[in-house]
Amino acid sequence: MAGAKPLVSWAFDCDPLSCLETLGAGQVIFEAKRIAIVGGGPAGLRAAEVCAAAGMKVVLFDAERSVGRKFLVAGKGGLNLTNAEPREIIANRYSGKTSDFWRGVLEVFDSGDLREWALELGFETFATKSGRVYLKDLKAAGLLRRWVARLREIGVVFQTNHRLVDLKPGGPFQLVFENGARTEADAVILALGGGSWPETGSDGRWFPLFEKLGLATRPLAPANCGWEHDWPPEVLQAAEGKPLKNIRVTAGEKSASGELILTRYGLEGGPLYALGSALRTMDAPAISIDLKPAHSVDQLVAKMESVRRSFASDARLRWKLGDAACALLARKEWKDAPSLAREAKNCVITLKGPRPIAEAISSAGGFRWEELTEDLMVKKIPELFVAGEMIDWEAPTGGFLLQACFATGTLAAQTACKFCR
Ligand SMILES: Cc1cc2nc3c(=O)[nH]c(=O)nc-3n(C[C@H](O)[C@H](O)[C@H](O)COP(=O)(O)OP(=O)(O)OC[C@H]3O[C@@H](n4cnc5c(N)ncnc54)[C@H](O)[C@@H]3O)c2cc1C
Repeated sequence: MAGAKPLVSWAFDCDPLSCLETLGAGQVIFEAKRIAIVGGGPAGLRAAEVCAAAGMKVVLFDAERSVGRKFLVAGKGGLNLTNAEPREIIANRYSGKTSDFWRGVLEVFDSGDLREWALELGFETFATKSGRVYLKDLKAAGLLRRWVARLREIGVVFQTNHRLVDLKPGGPFQLVFENGARTEADAVILALGGGSWPETGSDGRWFPLFEKLGLATRPLAPANCGWEHDWPPEVLQAAEGKPLKNIRVTAGEKSASGELILTRYGLEGGPLYALGSALRTMDAPAISIDLKPAHSVDQLVAKMESVRRSFASDARLRWKLGDAACALLARKEWKDAPSLAREAKNCVITLKGPRPIAEAISSAGGFRWEELTEDLMVKKIPELFVAGEMIDWEAPTGGFLLQACFATGTLAAQTACKFCR
């Protein structure tokens, strides 16, 4: 049928991609309720799992040629799947909604559930002292492979190379894809991801879908990323790639401890990731670094008692400073120990701005909360549900990102199933 748009099949006794060619326009085959899930990251895959286990017919669409590409990237340096902190503490790690709300989301699927889920797939986890939970296997590829195989076994059909470009609500819901394919569904769960690492498919190109539907979004911004600062050449020469260890970093009212790396473009590391949301609200973003958080100014001065000159070089030994800390302090001449000690406790670095979103670990912004019910149904379009990083929340690294993706994927799927029933 020349020119006819292919219709995505919901009949699962044939290969879905070959069905695209053989079905004519207007043909729809279904009995059970059909849930279309768009986005094959952890949030969408988890939503597919819950819906299929509840007896729904599930087709998962993704723009890329394979699913879980960012999940694989996340697993490269060791997959930090979740965090072993108590649920009440984890709930405080998220922005966008109250911790009560997040506690409720975590009740649906918390870090214990996530670890059990991984174990059921055959993957053990372990927790570090700081609470981060990793796969023993470290990499994500084996887990993803087994997960996708299990989803196929329970009836989930995968339609890759399908970029959603239009959504037409009204019974039944219509979905239109960039390749010309279209389909209908009783409910749709969107889990389109944020905007970092666009090469994985999470490119934030989905905003126009919602503009057309009159649904509010907040522009994406880089989160969990480095910040830029122009270092003088002598600082770079002495300290590029070197760590500032055991420091406390403050931005406005918020502080975070840990380690930063001095890079060619500025600074990178956990404390900056944790302070990103505070920094983004500042007109002139700046941080204060306490290089010796365990010591007061007086204690530092006391350690320099007999020193009469070359304060900065003596401080290296007496205060046990690394190369990067020394390079920061050596940016000025110091005439006495008290002023050097005050600088060590309050080393102010102005920041030009965050690194580009493409490099960030995650993004802030996205689908606005006010468009959603507490159980992740779109208020104006009750057959539409949203999950994962595409919603307007953020969290620091430490396993909190994936935890929220799994938990919101579970919640959105449970709500969609309830709606379909
Ligand atoms: C380098 C790096 C390391 C990370 N490490 C960790 C970690 O250790 N622990 C942790 O908790 N988190 C980590 N994360 C973050 C974590 O990977 C993400 O938060 C998570 O993958 C988001 O899941 P999601 O399902 O919401 O979206 P994504 O995983 O981003 O998936 C979205 C999917 O939607 C598809 N899509 C987008 N638009 C369309 C469209 N229009 N039509 C069809 N499909 C579409 C995309 O192709 C993609 O497959 C890391 C991220 C990065 C970049």
